[in-house]
Amino acid sequence: MNLKEQYEKALRELEAKVSLIRSGDMACGHPIRQGDNYGESCQVCGERLAGYGYWGSHRDCLHQYASMGDDSEYEFCMYCEDVRRKEP
Ligand SMILES: [Zn+2]
Ligand SMILES: [Zn+2]
Repeated sequence: MNLKEQYEKALRELEAKVSLIRSGDMACGHPIRQGDNYGESCQVCGERLAGYGYWGSHRDCLHQYASMGDDSEYEFCMYCEDVRRKEP
């Protein structure tokens, strides 16, 4: 098999998998994620994974907290900048 054939085979397998996921026959492991400043979404099933979703497609934020520093007791959401106290 040459490189082009291998690539086309991989692409066909991916398309088959995507159609199984979209028809609900297979759980989506969100293999292809796309993100921007607003959030992150799965490009296969369309589910939002973080923040407001890719391109800010949701009005509410699915918070994704990051620490403000090792010595800080606070963490903030990377998307809406909500601040909360770290869970013990
Ligand atoms: Zn998915
Ligand atoms: Zn948030």
